[in-house]
Amino acid sequence: MNKNKSVIPQLFDYAGNHKYFTISSWILAAISALVALVPFYYIWRIIREVVAVSPVFSKATHIVSYGWSAVGMSLLAMFLYISALLCSHLAAFRVQTNMRKAMMEHVMKLPMGYIESEGSGKIRKIVAESSAATETFLAHSLPDKAVSYATPVGLIAMLLIFDWRIGLICLVPAVLAFLMMGGMMGEKMQNDMKEYQNALDEMSAEAVEYVRGIPVVKTFGQSVFSFKRFKEAIDKYEKWTITYTIGMRMPMIGFTTAANAVFAALVACSFIFARNGVTDTFLYNILFYIIITPILTVTLMKVAYAGESQMIVRDALNRMYALLDVEPLKEASNPQNPKDSSIKIENIVFTYDEKKTNAIDGISLDIKPGEHVALVGPSGGGKTTLASLVARFWDVKQGSIKIGGVDVRDIASADLMKNVSYVFQDSKLLKMSILDNVRMGKPDVTEAEVVKALKDAMCWDIIEKLPHGINTMIGSKGTYVSGGEAQRISIARAFLKNAPILILDEATAFADPDNENMVQKAFANLAKDKTVIMIAHRLSTVVDADKICVLSDGKIVESGKHDALLAKGGIYDHMWNEYKKSVNWKMGREQDNDKKVTA
Ligand code: ADP
Repeated sequence: MNKNKSVIPQLFDYAGNHKYFTISSWILAAISALVALVPFYYIWRIIREVVAVSPVFSKATHIVSYGWSAVGMSLLAMFLYISALLCSHLAAFRVQTNMRKAMMEHVMKLPMGYIESEGSGKIRKIVAESSAATETFLAHSLPDKAVSYATPVGLIAMLLIFDWRIGLICLVPAVLAFLMMGGMMGEKMQNDMKEYQNALDEMSAEAVEYVRGIPVVKTFGQSVFSFKRFKEAIDKYEKWTITYTIGMRMPMIGFTTAANAVFAALVACSFIFARNGVTDTFLYNILFYIIITPILTVTLMKVAYAGESQMIVRDALNRMYALLDVEPLKEASNPQNPKDSSIKIENIVFTYDEKKTNAIDGISLDIKPGEHVALVGPSGGGKTTLASLVARFWDVKQGSIKIGGVDVRDIASADLMKNVSYVFQDSKLLKMSILDNVRMGKPDVTEAEVVKALKDAMCWDIIEKLPHGINTMIGSKGTYVSGGEAQRISIARAFLKNAPILILDEATAFADPDNENMVQKAFANLAKDKTVIMIAHRLSTVVDADKICVLSDGKIVESGKHDALLAKGGIYDHMWNEYKKSVNWKMGREQDNDKKVTA
């Protein structure tokens, strides 16, 4: 696939043999455009006859046959154009399907970390919108383009055949319009178009953030101006649009004036040529030009818009290639199976962006089968990154991670996923029944097994509240679950999957303490007999861990058991004291509230 090719060969890469449908659609559309001009000739013959026999109209004997010929030719033109559209749609749908398939197949191979950090919404938008843009282009714009090229050729031929002098004069404004159009197109326009799309995308992304943040604005009584980024995105878009529109003002005025000036040129030349009297032929020819020239204006407009649609599709293709350029994770050439659930991390380094500092900067860690390791430390310290490297959401830049003695890069991705369960902080449930949501953990289980998993994951209270129990559709008719509840349901998924290694990302904030308790109990049930890496945000949950690692700036700065770390009096000890203070403060407030209630 060569990205430097022009648009049509690039689209043909996805068309297979259907490209012949596209070619047929051009030919049919071009012929239909030429045939569509013939009725004008018949109309002119009718007018000519009427003028010639005037005032004895009964002598005009050919009018009916001319009329039917005009109708017949119009119908033929329509039939040809519909056939052209049929062919163009067959090709367009095939290209759209193949592009979507290619993108989705690629997305499936992309690092999980990329999908997480880009956001599935953005990826969906690229897949859906870029392929839709090519569909509109292939199905509608291209046949229209064939029409808009064929019509001027036919028109010019007709204009010059009837009276070449008038024909040439009519062509002067048309050529001027073409020159003006050239000024509006070209590389600058292509770049402007890209910038326009970027500004639009940025504004939509910020709008989503804004809507998501409305509860915060309301709760904390802030003004909408706290959403500076959203306002900046709108301002940028506004500034861009106004500058662009002003820049386009003169060429657009020039183009529209020239395109519409054909008629004016016709009137002017009629006067010039009629100075020395008018012959019948001249009069008939002028009549013909009066009928035909408006089509020239319409055709010029069509050519202008055909260029615009080509630019839109070029931008869509660029967006698709940007996605296809993201390097997929390499599948192991000689895959091996892990021997046990031990994890050996050896001097790993990882960076999200080569220019920035390392998110993980030389970490080594040995985890024996069945050990529970907690990752704690300041936000941005590298906990999530370390955990996602173990599940091979990304590949390390240096060093290695081994599971059961095998480098994660040498384990087939399906086997790796069988060995590792990851419970995310913001667990996602799909729009289907709870039963099917949990079954995703292991598709071939019975309903009874799903029920057991839900009970083990402390979800039964959620199910009891729902109108149709485990068959309730999530997201339908206002059936939503809270973040903590969604996390518990995804723990049930992990119960079914029963992978020997478990990575748990504890949620940072729970709406209510009951939910927090339940999630922790569910975690504890699930973690039994498994090797666990737990990203902990509350220190109460790590006290019993076999090893606590404190991460800061991508390094393990302290590690050991709770008591040993306290005895050391280092960072962990400090964090523990701060944590105890915050818990005492919370309890103190609760007691104060109780006193107020009893008073
Ligand atoms: P923690 O989980 O301890 O809060 P993270 O592992 O999320 O820390 O982050 C470690 C560092 O990597 C931080 O500097 C963070 O800004 C950066 N980082 C995390 N995720 C991404 C990402 N998707 N793209 C770029 N940088 C990231």
